[in-house]
Amino acid sequence: MSKPDKPYRKREVGGHTLSPETQMMSYGYDPKLSEMSIKPPIFLTSTFAFATAEDGAAFFRVTLGQAEEGDPESAGLMYSRFNNPNMEVLEDRLALYDGADEAAVFSSGMAAISTTLMGLAHSGSVILQSTPLYGGTESLIRKFLPNYGIQSVDFFAGAREDELQAAAEAAMAKGEVSVIYTETPTNPTNDLVDLAACRRIADIIRDKQGKRPWIVVDNTFLGPVGQAPLALGADVVIYSLTKYIGGHSDLIAGSASGSSEAMALVRGLRGYLGTNLDAHTCWMLLRSLETVKIRMEAAALGARKVAEYLRDHPKVGRVRYLGFMEKGTRDGDVFHAQSTSAGSTFAFDLADEKAAFRMLNALQVMKLAVSLGGTETLICHPGSTTHRGVDPELRKRQGFSDGLVRISVGIENPDDLIADLEQALQHA
Ligand SMILES: *Cc1c(COP(=O)(O)O)cnc(C)c1O
Repeated sequence: MSKPDKPYRKREVGGHTLSPETQMMSYGYDPKLSEMSIKPPIFLTSTFAFATAEDGAAFFRVTLGQAEEGDPESAGLMYSRFNNPNMEVLEDRLALYDGADEAAVFSSGMAAISTTLMGLAHSGSVILQSTPLYGGTESLIRKFLPNYGIQSVDFFAGAREDELQAAAEAAMAKGEVSVIYTETPTNPTNDLVDLAACRRIADIIRDKQGKRPWIVVDNTFLGPVGQAPLALGADVVIYSLTKYIGGHSDLIAGSASGSSEAMALVRGLRGYLGTNLDAHTCWMLLRSLETVKIRMEAAALGARKVAEYLRDHPKVGRVRYLGFMEKGTRDGDVFHAQSTSAGSTFAFDLADEKAAFRMLNALQVMKLAVSLGGTETLICHPGSTTHRGVDPELRKRQGFSDGLVRISVGIENPDDLIADLEQALQHA
């Protein structure tokens, strides 16, 4: 944990532990250091003055992993590719929300994912991945990482533990398994990866190969409000901050948080790849974090109402909403064990692509766009857009139909969204 002794890193009051939603307005920032400004100023500077030459030398030693006796625990401000006050406050708050030792922020979700995978995997090793993943991640793992000697083996997100174990055996036959990479729930069909089972498989792999693979979970869909992968045994949690955490469809950013051991590798590589986030976007995200809990909760309440409306509509087939999963089924049990919210992004089926297009073209309140997690409701047809390139075999396994529509419910009044769907579905 990063320095709980500092007054601006206060974690409790009178023996009562402060909640993350309270901490998002104060943790990690000291007004005394900035003219008593309630909000942090934006530090638009590339570099920082050292008080002495000795300080500069010590900061570089610490950053390059060559700390000596008497050096500070973490480097002071040096250069904005490595650190910056806005970046540090944001990283402190993200780490606190996820219960991580440390967080690092990146210029996009993909920058977080590529830097994390390249930091944790090495040439000759194998990534054991759930599938489907976000399209960019699938392509990175399947098409680009092999150029650097990193191979992969996949398992279906909804796999049972014995299927997962078979995939682990196949991966170990190819080389040392360095990373288990997952994303849950999946986009857009809401299949679930069993994270507890992944942890058990990682331990089995450790017993066989001597070293436990890192477990990395992309938690973009449910966010820190709806799922805590680190508490379930993951080493690193990834976000596309572009989505729910940014929350206003006005920025691109990403993060990785986890154990100090894993993050030292990830943060170290970020300094060389230069995939860091700029001060202005860090500041925007500090504003976003203050409302992430109420936004995600409001969106989840709206999503439930919209999902219930769609479930009862005669022109709508299956509604793949997590809140409808029943205990006693494989998915229902995994959902209740690892998630505390059903989120607000889900898919539903119309008769075919033509019916889906007619409905989408008739909408007047919701916006027809890819992406998700904003204050406004976004809706799209993944089959012809985001998921065009997905393997037909996998589509079949997921029950991904031609008429499948994805909706990311925002924070509008859900009754207005339902009225919009009601008139648009007449065209479906
Ligand atoms: C959008 C998204 C990404 C990629 O994030 P960018 O910020 O667009 O680079 C990664 N994972 C998931 C689950 C996403 O939804």
